[in-house]
Amino acid sequence: MIQANYPADSSFLSPILDSYDVVVIGGGPAGATVSALLAEQGHSVVVLERGTIPRFHVGESLIPETYWSLQRLGLIDKLKASSFPKKFSVQFVSDGWKESAPFYFDMHNSHESSQTWQVERADFDKMLLDNAVEKGAQVRMNAQVLEVLFEGERAPGVKVKLSDGSGNSESKVVNAKVVVDCSGTSAFLSNRLKLRSSDPHLRKGTIWTYWKGAYRDEGKDEGATLIMQTEGKKTWFWYIPLSDDVVSVGCTGEMSYMFPKGSTAESTYQRELECCPALEKRLENAEQCMEYYATKDYSYTSKEAAGDGWVLCGDAFGFIDPVYSSGVYLAMKGGEFVADAVHDALALGDTSAARLGAWKETYSAGVENFRKLVYAFYSPGFNFGSFLREYPQFKSNLVDILIGAVFKPEHDAMFEAMGEIIPPMEEAESA
Ligand SMILES: Cc1cc2nc3c(=O)[nH]c(=O)nc-3n(C[C@H](O)[C@H](O)[C@H](O)COP(=O)(O)OP(=O)(O)OC[C@H]3O[C@@H](n4cnc5c(N)ncnc54)[C@H](O)[C@@H]3O)c2cc1C
Repeated sequence: MIQANYPADSSFLSPILDSYDVVVIGGGPAGATVSALLAEQGHSVVVLERGTIPRFHVGESLIPETYWSLQRLGLIDKLKASSFPKKFSVQFVSDGWKESAPFYFDMHNSHESSQTWQVERADFDKMLLDNAVEKGAQVRMNAQVLEVLFEGERAPGVKVKLSDGSGNSESKVVNAKVVVDCSGTSAFLSNRLKLRSSDPHLRKGTIWTYWKGAYRDEGKDEGATLIMQTEGKKTWFWYIPLSDDVVSVGCTGEMSYMFPKGSTAESTYQRELECCPALEKRLENAEQCMEYYATKDYSYTSKEAAGDGWVLCGDAFGFIDPVYSSGVYLAMKGGEFVADAVHDALALGDTSAARLGAWKETYSAGVENFRKLVYAFYSPGFNFGSFLREYPQFKSNLVDILIGAVFKPEHDAMFEAMGEIIPPMEEAESA
């Protein structure tokens, strides 16, 4: 069995100072991106990560537009030299076993950014944090932020519990000009300030595990993500090929259907596997090599993105749904937006909400494109094949969104064509 507990890297245990320009809560892709870019600009930065490093995390499939954040961080050569499988496409398999033609990203854009990777997050996230350290940020693991301190409206720092990994711990106040919350789905500040609201259309849950020796396509398709709907479309499975002949296979559906009374993760997963013959066939000769993991109710947003001296980033600001593998990309792209805003704020000596949250409108407009396509995916009447047969002119819009090119205004006509199947946004916002 693969162990999700990795040996901790003790180089991330060095003592921290009393004061920094920027304190970052959380060492995932958002925290690592923000801290690397700010340290590169000469700001003093500390990342406080409550877990150990490296650490296991769900979310292995990248999408092509992540390339540009990785390039800005100087990491493309490291990714190219890694053993992470290359991903050239995504393919949707409908409940009737019908496979849509794969969406090959390079048929849309011949630039090398069209090839991306399937990554073990422990290794990938550590690569990002090592890069932040190389650029001058300090990263401290076993550092749980207990409180963001407030003086009136302003956040002048945090209170953190530091453990040495051998059972000893101490609390410390760390002062900062800006606190960046990259705490992932814990959404530390958004929860405490009551800014978080769940998406009523996406009350989903997921159960996942890893398999060894499962069927792998060949050549260009070897590293493809498959999205396989079960018969009756109550749930869908992701199929993400990783290195060492391991495949990540996760099942997503309505929370109440995924976690009924008396069920276990295993019973639900096996029940749904039986409704997905195409997947059963792929797993015929495979062995499960990790325990089951489960998570739920992860689609939410935050009403505010920033306040005086604090700003949210990545999942700490919001997350949509795993179906298009957009999470790491948005965490890193968001990390770029936030780093640029914090740099401007520090340069101008203006750490107001308006300055720190200057990116919110542009970012949220991009996220809405993913959200609308997620709603379409879950609409009973929708499938990609029939939509494209009726509206072939929108193929490039669709692929744009699948690769992550969502920060463009010209997708409106496609969503108008999808029309009725997408619930109006106001319903989601007001719930
Ligand atoms: C079921 C599921 C499947 C997914 N699949 C994919 C996929 O295939 N591809 C993809 O791109 N995305 C996927 N995602 C989303 C992706 O995993 C996240 O969007 C991504 O990890 C967000 O990065 P982040 O840095 O914002 O948060 P995280 O990666 O979650 O990092 C947050 C960090 O903050 C730390 N932290 C939390 N609270 C504190 C505290 N109080 N003090 C200190 N540290 C703290 C945590 O320990 C954690 O390490 C999936 C998500 C789900 C739920």
